[in-house]
Amino acid sequence: MPTLLNGNVVCSAVKEDLKKEIETFESKPGLAVILVGDNPASKAYVGMKKKTCAEIGVHSVEFKLDVDDNEDALIEVIDECNRRDDIHGILLQLPLPDHFDEDKMLQLIDPRKDVDGFHPVNVGKLLIGLDTFKSCTPYGVFKMMDYYDIDPAGKHVVILGRSNIVGKPLAAILVQKGRGANATVTICHSRTQNLEEITKQADILVAAIGIPEFVKPEMVKEDAIVIDVGINRVDDASLEKGYKLVGDVDFESVKDKTSSITPVPGGVGPMTIAMLMTNTVQAYKQSQAVLAI
Ligand code: NAD
Repeated sequence: MPTLLNGNVVCSAVKEDLKKEIETFESKPGLAVILVGDNPASKAYVGMKKKTCAEIGVHSVEFKLDVDDNEDALIEVIDECNRRDDIHGILLQLPLPDHFDEDKMLQLIDPRKDVDGFHPVNVGKLLIGLDTFKSCTPYGVFKMMDYYDIDPAGKHVVILGRSNIVGKPLAAILVQKGRGANATVTICHSRTQNLEEITKQADILVAAIGIPEFVKPEMVKEDAIVIDVGINRVDDASLEKGYKLVGDVDFESVKDKTSSITPVPGGVGPMTIAMLMTNTVQAYKQSQAVLAI
């Protein structure tokens, strides 16, 4: 039987540690959550983030903009968040409505408050191995491996997907010289040829492509560790809500070939919020250290 890598367990442990740490602070870390429009998935994510803030003692400040608001309105909100001393982290919920230039908006966030780790300054620092905010989902994968004593040092990690929020930053984290890293990393993407030959070489296979149950047993080496970042809705008329969530890995057929595997839901998913909270506490501590100079 493979080990199930349970993101809910790791998330709870991370939150518990943060809660205890926050209780020792003189003031509360503050996280601004900016939502533009009324995308139901984004609203649900924002709700979960606010709930987690309340659980661990982070002060959340919500800013809501209308779907018809323009970039100037958002720039004003970001400016305010950059300036306010009670806000240590800024989360701009993506995706933004089409008439917003996402990259431009993200770059307006003060890199010291960029708890999503999307600002080019932080992406660059991550790449050259400097201490910085790491993008939350790949950071969650790193944390989960650490929790389960999975040491990627010297292992071949194959990552499916080259997005800026998962694949590329995860590669940057795991390839570093340092604890929990030192891996040999291969990134595969939609133009990769002979994909199966490459994935079969993986000691640790990470799937982040957004295609339901794409990874099949023949793509996986015996006893590999499989980490499924994918979260996909597929129709399921037998369920009241009409759909179910599945990963990018065909869990049922792949699991017995692995030594460890993440389920979906309940695998990497909960780790993203846990690491957002970790980054917010880090931002708070860095701001206090600056004040103390
Ligand atoms: P994306 O759409 O930005 O990128 C997908 C990547 O997959 C691309 O780089 C593309 O080249 C690659 N790809 C597509 N088809 C492929 C194929 N046939 N073979 C190999 N590579 C292929 O996706 P993303 O934002 O990185 O998200 C990926 C998945 O992870 C989605 O299911 C998303 O919902 C999920 N996700 C989960 C979390 C979380 O909190 N757990 C966070 C972010 C994304």
